Amino acid sequence: MQLIWDEFLKILKQEAGSQIVETWFKAASFQQWNAEEKIVTLQLPNQFVSNWINEHYLGLIKTHLSRLLHVDSLKISLICKQTNADKRDIIPASVIQENNPHTAIVPKKEAPVVSQEKGELQVHSSFKGKRSNDGINPTYQFDSFVVGPCNSLAHAAAYAICQGLGTVYNPLFIYGGTGLGKTHLLHAIGNEVKKRKQKAIIRYVTTDHFMYEFISSIRFDKCHQFREKYEKIDLLLLDDIQFFSNKEQTQETFFHIFNALHQKRKQIVLSSDTFPKEIKGLQGRLKSRMEWGLVADIQTPDLETKIAILKKKAESQSITLPDDVADFIASRILSNIRALEGALVRVEAFATLTNHPITLELAQQVLVHTPEKKTDGTMLENVLKAVAKHYGVSLQDLRSKKRQKSIAAARQIAFYLMKKHTFSSLQAIGNFVGGRDHSTVIHAIDKIDTYMKEDKSLQQKVKGIEQDILTS
Ligand code: ADP
Ligand code: MG
Repeated sequence: MQLIWDEFLKILKQEAGSQIVETWFKAASFQQWNAEEKIVTLQLPNQFVSNWINEHYLGLIKTHLSRLLHVDSLKISLICKQTNADKRDIIPASVIQENNPHTAIVPKKEAPVVSQEKGELQVHSSFKGKRSNDGINPTYQFDSFVVGPCNSLAHAAAYAICQGLGTVYNPLFIYGGTGLGKTHLLHAIGNEVKKRKQKAIIRYVTTDHFMYEFISSIRFDKCHQFREKYEKIDLLLLDDIQFFSNKEQTQETFFHIFNALHQKRKQIVLSSDTFPKEIKGLQGRLKSRMEWGLVADIQTPDLETKIAILKKKAESQSITLPDDVADFIASRILSNIRALEGALVRVEAFATLTNHPITLELAQQVLVHTPEKKTDGTMLENVLKAVAKHYGVSLQDLRSKKRQKSIAAARQIAFYLMKKHTFSSLQAIGNFVGGRDHSTVIHAIDKIDTYMKEDKSLQQKVKGIEQDILTS
């Protein structure tokens, strides 16, 4: 029977792919073959897997096993191995949709080490010991985090919770755009707490990975252990929780873990790319819990902060970075700090390879093709200033509600140029210029587009402003 089963798995692998076999069939076993009644009995680790196989793969199983066993009208009986201890973790069939293996929630590089034979769940090697396998990256420290107006609240809160786990803000919720330092802060908290409380059980985990572990635990009927592991933690750092979106069952489990930890005054830190209320597909009760403690945002950094970050990075890597170069890179790279670091790396690599010191000319040469378009407030500000200058109006006028012809015209040019020279959304542009809505912005841009086609003097004027913007 085992040979037939193995043969079947081989065929299935070819037909459905190895991921399906790994996910749903590795934990299944051939239990019995009743030749008289033509019934094959398969044993599955739990109801969840059984339901899934029943719904998705029964046809395939019948076709191939019939052929391999040389019988027609084969019947399949699915039975579950269920221990008492694990009963409470039976997952209802409704979870099936969400955990569809075709959805890319299982990150490949984090393939689990699963040893079913021993009946153990070894989801991820980093979960074995609490000290070295807490998921914390030692390179992200508070020391290497540059504080500026854009991140001072998040930084202060992060630092504060290290002094009294679970007592200051719980949970601490950090949100902000990509590459702005959320992950860095989460690890910094982990590192700091590690130094202060040697015995604390700390766990940094990405939401993706959390989900992955959870799903693995269902497959091998270890939900109970999964919850136990997480509920033992003193400091849980869960990164990028926007990925919980629409994962009902994972949210459900996290909800219970959250409650258990919170009740025990264990510290929870969460990060996301948006404010809790804005996270789509997240249960209301989770959203509200995320606001129980402190919600702190991280904004795009201003020029000074960017320069400070560059200098710090350069210093830590013993790179000699002249002021004008730092200034140039910082004003050139606008979207995020990750891109800023990337630019520094490229400049440094180029200098090393060509055996030249880092100079402004060299940096300009290297970054000339940076696809970076201006996305942040600095560029919006530059446009507004240039327009104000060329039209002889003030920034306040442009942002005001004044409808005077000259001011309104300048404002429309500003919208037009902001759209052209940044990736900012119409809403963001409208917000920036006195809180106008996006329809006003669209209307203005259309209008200027039309005028520009015919009006030579307007074209000249806009060109002049653009020159100012691009050289500012
Ligand atoms: P996020 O998680 O918000 O996408 P990361 O924490 O991964 O961003 O940050 C991206 C990179 O920028 C990391 O290398 C991080 O060390 C660096 N970084 C972000 N913010 C700062 C800061 N304030 N000071 C120093 N480095 C920073
Ligand atoms: Mg991150």
